[in-house]
Amino acid sequence: MNTNREHLCDVLVIGSGAAGLSLALRVAERAKVIVLSKGPLSEGATYYAQGGIAAVFDEADSIESHVNDTNIAGAGLCEQDTVQFIAENAKECVQWLIDGGVPFDQVETAKDEAPRYHLTREGGHSHRRILHAADATGMAMQTTLQDNVLSHPNIEIFERYNALDLITEDKVGGRKDKVVGAYIWNRNQEHVETVRAKFVVLATGGASKVYQYTSNPDVSSGDGIAMAWRSGCRVANLEFNQFHPTCLFHPDARNFLLTEALRGEGLT
Ligand SMILES: Cc1cc2nc3c(=O)[nH]c(=O)nc-3n(C[C@H](O)[C@H](O)[C@H](O)COP(=O)(O)OP(=O)(O)OC[C@H]3O[C@@H](n4cnc5c(N)ncnc54)[C@H](O)[C@@H]3O)c2cc1C
Repeated sequence: MNTNREHLCDVLVIGSGAAGLSLALRVAERAKVIVLSKGPLSEGATYYAQGGIAAVFDEADSIESHVNDTNIAGAGLCEQDTVQFIAENAKECVQWLIDGGVPFDQVETAKDEAPRYHLTREGGHSHRRILHAADATGMAMQTTLQDNVLSHPNIEIFERYNALDLITEDKVGGRKDKVVGAYIWNRNQEHVETVRAKFVVLATGGASKVYQYTSNPDVSSGDGIAMAWRSGCRVANLEFNQFHPTCLFHPDARNFLLTEALRGEGLT
């Protein structure tokens, strides 16, 4: 492949949604990070998420109940260790977002009281456990994380760069199962460049855009899954895709999600 430019970093994060930006911020305390986004930095499923994010904040709620609801919604197919881990760690992760400045809606409290968050309900949850920023939670998360990433001295952002393929060490006479970087397409100047990194993180989101009708954005085309597969990773559970039951359809416009709170609050 013809490449014009090589970049070096400790950690290459492919994807600038909630997953990629959160990870970048956490590792940037100790490492030089490059974050790639295929389109504009904000373009991904995260920006379009509306309803909110689930965590046990209410005293009347419990981890056990969150695990139970998740298992019911997952029709018995969920991996128990994963469900337990997520339910147990959700509050701490949401607190990390709050500390980073994400403006989740609060209920009014007395001046000397600690802030309390407004909790809504969404489909499948037996308790109020959804923290939200009005009905644009993803936008609030994405823009806050972006501000934090953009002001971090250890993070470099490559906007409008498509990761094309991972580079495995066998290309330079080493192991086939070791990833040492990626070929990237500079969309601004229309040429291929390379990134050499100690660690490469795939945070490229989902693949729902393979379907004609989806609430997901165009960038959700499964690139990371394909790159991982081509580099020798096993892939699994590809049959699971997010479909929202409440979308607005108009023949001349891009369809979009009608809030999930409609269902959770029993309005549909
Ligand atoms: C309309 C909608 C509503 C939703 N509502 C909720 C909700 O209320 N609550 C909830 O918990 N979840 C919700 N979700 C799901 C949630 O948004 C996603 O699970 C989450 O945002 C995924 O984050 P991510 O960082 O993994 O992916 P994304 O946010 O999709 O980010 C993927 C990133 O990868 C980049 N990328 C992809 N391919 C390449 C490539 N080849 N090279 C370089 N970069 C690449 C993209 O540019 C993007 O920056 C909703 C999703 C949608 C679409």
